[in-house]
Amino acid sequence: MDCIFCKIANKEIPATIVYEDDYVLAFKDLNPVAPQHVLIIPKKHIASLNDLSQEDEVLMGKVILVASKLAKELGIDDAGYRIVSNCGKNGGQTVGHIHYHLLGGRELQWPPG
Ligand code: AMP
Ligand code: ZN
Repeated sequence: MDCIFCKIANKEIPATIVYEDDYVLAFKDLNPVAPQHVLIIPKKHIASLNDLSQEDEVLMGKVILVASKLAKELGIDDAGYRIVSNCGKNGGQTVGHIHYHLLGGRELQWPPG
């Protein structure tokens, strides 16, 4: 499948991996928009939030738990941070494999543009 994040999960293209287990992978965003910017994905290919089904309930829970764990490891938990999953054109999604951005290390704007 021609999916860049599946290729990263399969080690076909390189990435700076910061967490990995059987189900979840986290790696640094190539174009960070904050001092800490990590992408967290399920290894299973799911295109977006629109494509989640009941069977993904536990898997996506694992993804969120990795975000929480990484925020502590990166030392941004106390100051605060954000996780966000862009969905579709209006959401600004550019890669069609569901992912959460973990953003921290500076004060983030709200609402987003
Ligand atoms: P989104 O626009 O929400 O779909 O987010 C996709 C993110 O993937 C962007 O922040 C890109 O900078 C990032 N990205 C694209 N290709 C790579 C790659 N090969 N390695 C790491 N991050 C990437
Ligand atoms: Zn994929």
